[in-house]
Amino acid sequence: MDFAFVSGDPALDLAGTVRSRREEPFDVLAAPADLERWVAQCDALPDRVTADVATFESALALREAIYRLALDRVLKRPFDPGSLAILNDTAAGPVPTLELHDAGLRISGDLPAVLSHIARSAIAVLADPDACLKECGRGGCTRIYLDRSRGARRTWCGMDECGNRVKAAAYRARKRAAT
Ligand SMILES: [Zn+2]
Repeated sequence: MDFAFVSGDPALDLAGTVRSRREEPFDVLAAPADLERWVAQCDALPDRVTADVATFESALALREAIYRLALDRVLKRPFDPGSLAILNDTAAGPVPTLELHDAGLRISGDLPAVLSHIARSAIAVLADPDACLKECGRGGCTRIYLDRSRGARRTWCGMDECGNRVKAAAYRARKRAAT
């Protein structure tokens, strides 16, 4: 299965690996190998990491902390203290190596370093008062994304996953109403 990287930030993309959180939660990271593939597919992260069971569990704990804090931010309520502790502890760990090349950024490091990098990215987004975080407008999606569009007019996490589905459903409804 291909993963979606539409949230505008790797931390929010990680939180989005549980879909339909309120109705029928579906976790696309079922095993350590899924996390290895997710990291490899994410442009902002190293191409290859190895996930053991313990680090996989830490990744899932970090993911749930990021989701909870992003939701707190969307709902404009104080951050959950337990989730803050997980995020800040993870961010304090070793970080990946960043190198500039003609082809752009090259990032390398093991999975704990990747998690720390993701936690730092979450902190940067959640601490930015100008960052516009939104929940996807398609009922049931629950993905939280960073809206960087002009005037912050984006409604859906992604057109392929949600925008086109909502538009197609609205079209079908209009057609039904017309007949
Ligand atoms: Zn969506």
